[in-house]
Amino acid sequence: MRTKSDLDKYLQQQLDLGYEELYLPLESEPSPEGTGLPLPIDEFGKARSLMQLERTIDDCKRCPLWKTRNKFVFGEGNPGAEIMFVGEAPGRDEDLQGRPFVGRAGKLLDKMLADVGLAREDVYIANVLKSRPPENRDPLPDEVEACEPYLHMQIKLIKPKIICALGRIAAQTLLKTKMTLGEMRGRWFEYQGAKFMVAYHPAAILRSMSYLEPAMDDMRKLVRELQKLR
Ligand code: URA
Repeated sequence: MRTKSDLDKYLQQQLDLGYEELYLPLESEPSPEGTGLPLPIDEFGKARSLMQLERTIDDCKRCPLWKTRNKFVFGEGNPGAEIMFVGEAPGRDEDLQGRPFVGRAGKLLDKMLADVGLAREDVYIANVLKSRPPENRDPLPDEVEACEPYLHMQIKLIKPKIICALGRIAAQTLLKTKMTLGEMRGRWFEYQGAKFMVAYHPAAILRSMSYLEPAMDDMRKLVRELQKLR
C-alpha cells in the first residue's frame, strides 16, 4: 500500500534531481511501475528502476534473517555499470550502515579498484544475500533461494557486461557448483546473461597478503576483458 509519505519522498527526490514539472499521461492513472513508488513486494519483478526495486523489497521477510538484521543491504553504485561485483552477504559494518563492502574488506576493494583505474562509483556492488547472517556464517540454501531473485532483478536492470563474484562462497552459490576457488579462478562462466568470473574475496587478502598480487591479476584481467567487450 503506497502512502502519502511515499509520494512526498518521491516528489522531493524529483525536485532534488532538478525536475520542476511532473508529466502525467492524459486520461489514465499513473501505474505504480511508472512512478518509481514501491510495488507490493510480490511484484518486485515489475520494478522499472533500482530505486523502485529497493523500495519494494527493503522490508523483505522472505527468510528469517530479517529478525536479526539491523539494515537491509540492497547494493550501490552506478545503475548503468558495466562491471558488477557480488559478495556473499553483508558483514557487521555493512549491516550497521546498510551499504555493501564498507568495512576493512570494502576499503581494500576500493583501493584495488583504484589501482586498475576504477572508482567505486563506476561499478555496482551487491551481495547474494541482502541481510547479514548471524556471526557471518555462510548463507543457507533457503536464504539464497529467497534472496537470489532480487539479485537477478538487479542484474536485469543494470545489465552489466561482466559480473565478478568476490570469493569462493559467492561464486559457488551463484554457479551452483562445488568447484574450488582454484578450479574456478581464471575461467569465464556465464551468469544471467553476463560474463562471470571469480576473484579473491578482499577479506581473504586481509588474512593473507600473499593473495594480493594474484587478486590484482584478477582485477587487471577483468578490466582487459571489459575493454574487449566495448
Ligand atoms: N563481505 C561480503 O561478502 N560482503 C560485504 O558486503 C562485506 C563483506
